[in-house]
Amino acid sequence: AKETRGGTFCFFTSELRDAASKTAMLGERLRDAVDRGELKLAYQPLVDPLTNEVKCFEALLRWHDEDEGDISPAQFIPVAENDDLIIRIGEMALKQACMDALSWPDTIRVAVNVSAKQFIRPGYRKAVAAALQASGLPPGRLELEITESVFVGDLETVDAIFRDLKKLGVRLSLDDFGTGYSSLGYLKHGHFNKIKIDQSFVRGCTENGDTNPAIITAIVALAKALGMETVAEGVEAMDELELVKARGADLVQGYIFSRPITQDQVLAQFAEGSNM
Ligand code: C2E
Ligand code: CA
Ligand code: CA
Ligand code: CA
Repeated sequence: AKETRGGTFCFFTSELRDAASKTAMLGERLRDAVDRGELKLAYQPLVDPLTNEVKCFEALLRWHDEDEGDISPAQFIPVAENDDLIIRIGEMALKQACMDALSWPDTIRVAVNVSAKQFIRPGYRKAVAAALQASGLPPGRLELEITESVFVGDLETVDAIFRDLKKLGVRLSLDDFGTGYSSLGYLKHGHFNKIKIDQSFVRGCTENGDTNPAIITAIVALAKALGMETVAEGVEAMDELELVKARGADLVQGYIFSRPITQDQVLAQFAEGSNM
């Protein structure tokens, strides 16, 4: 109606419409990119700070669009989660990561991110089993990174999925710990092998009077008491590395050691005989 035209109301709705059509366009581009096989994986090492040895690589999706340039997974994963595209993308990443890991030294694991929407689908266990079988990767070398968001669903269903995955022999990692819907209740079932301390607790943790060191110490103590490993994520600076090491983090991931790199770069490093 004419009388609603003009003013902030109209401006606001057209802004929303723009945002919605942008998301729809991104979704279409993404679908085409997936069809053409344009999504790639990059790998970032998880390093033991006591020995500087790489123990694991996390697989991270990369998308380079001809017009838009690099589009971050933080931007396109939520778009994929709007429909079933996340299932295709997730299964593709899982398969590729398992295949890539098979050409690394067999002491090194691969960690794959799992969207909650993918995780709670009935076919998920089957998809994991299929990726393991197709690649021949031993299940113990695969780690699935899950965020606290899976626990907003029906807890009994979620629990059953965890038990199924454990039976397969894969490892489970709780990602972005402390940022989501945090409840310690789900730690008591002992599903997780690893806790990843979110970057927000690590970044700037060496500033005077910062409360993050206390939180890092507490998470490490909790994890140790429950038999889980800890990873400090997003470590960029030497003083941050020293701090998380002193506080007992088992593994460190961050630009201080390496940005995510291509599979070719991973293989070249192993060929050089260096372990980072
Ligand atoms: P995440 O799982 O928490 O992954 C860690 C993110 O932190 C990655 O961003 C990584 O590049 C970045 N990072 C690592 N070290 C540092 C550091 O020292 N400093 C800074 N500033 N950043 C660091 P990326 O690759 O952009 O991925 C963003 C998010 O997208 C991931 O967060 C994850 O939630 C999601 N994602 C990526 N790949 C996949 C995937 O295959 N499936 C699903 N479901 N989600 C994915
Ligand atoms: Ca992750
Ligand atoms: Ca994380
Ligand atoms: Ca994150």
